[in-house]
Amino acid sequence: MSIAQNLQNIKASLPQSVTLVAVSKTKPVADLMEAYDAGQRIFGENKIQEMVEKWEQMPKDIEWHMIGHVQTNKVKYMAPFVSLIHGVDSLKLLKEINKQAAKNSRVINCLLQIHIAEEETKFGLDETELNSLLSSSEFREMKNIQILGLMGMATFTDNENQVKKEFLHLKSIFDKLLKSKEALQYLSTEENLSTDPNINTTNCKLNTISMGMSGDYQLAIECGSTMVRIGSSIFGGRK
Ligand SMILES: *Cc1c(COP(=O)(O)O)cnc(C)c1O
Repeated sequence: MSIAQNLQNIKASLPQSVTLVAVSKTKPVADLMEAYDAGQRIFGENKIQEMVEKWEQMPKDIEWHMIGHVQTNKVKYMAPFVSLIHGVDSLKLLKEINKQAAKNSRVINCLLQIHIAEEETKFGLDETELNSLLSSSEFREMKNIQILGLMGMATFTDNENQVKKEFLHLKSIFDKLLKSKEALQYLSTEENLSTDPNINTTNCKLNTISMGMSGDYQLAIECGSTMVRIGSSIFGGRK
């Protein structure tokens, strides 16, 4: 089947509230253009250099998502145009994104990556690290980033129960965060705002859970995903 047909089939299977990121890593611009011509405007790449090259060649109404692990020294190359960085997993990286966003007079949207898989190799924060990042004064002072939610990758396994458990774990962390954030916002509407200048939640607007790929996106949606990252089911397999 063609890229346009694959895209159409997947879109038809997604609830309206779920955002589709077409993961185009390793694929040539011609393939991306086929998806673009079929109406797709959000593309995900996992290498900054490759994303920059494609951004330069393609129409400027595309939203580029960085879904891979980000090295601090490369943030500057995508800061002028990237619309969402999925894999933020340290305060150090967030600081650099904030700095480069400021240089470009932008606010860059980010997701914090949570380690939900059993594999040791996957990147991400645990819940304790997440909470300490969000409650740090350094984070509160960042004016050029906005946290839209969380991202996670499940273990690569055929065991659906395992994958489901991991997706539900991410969803539960998100829900807890939302609750604590609501509490914080409630507080900030009260007198606390004037007594505690550190209560500043403007750089955190939680509405996104990025989870689910070609093999597991249906399950991810059942577990509360609002954004799926789908590559091979649209563009075919990668070498
Ligand atoms: C490659 C990749 C995907 C897409 O994987 P498919 O199985 O091809 O859909 C999703 N998320 C991340 C982080 C990836 O690196």
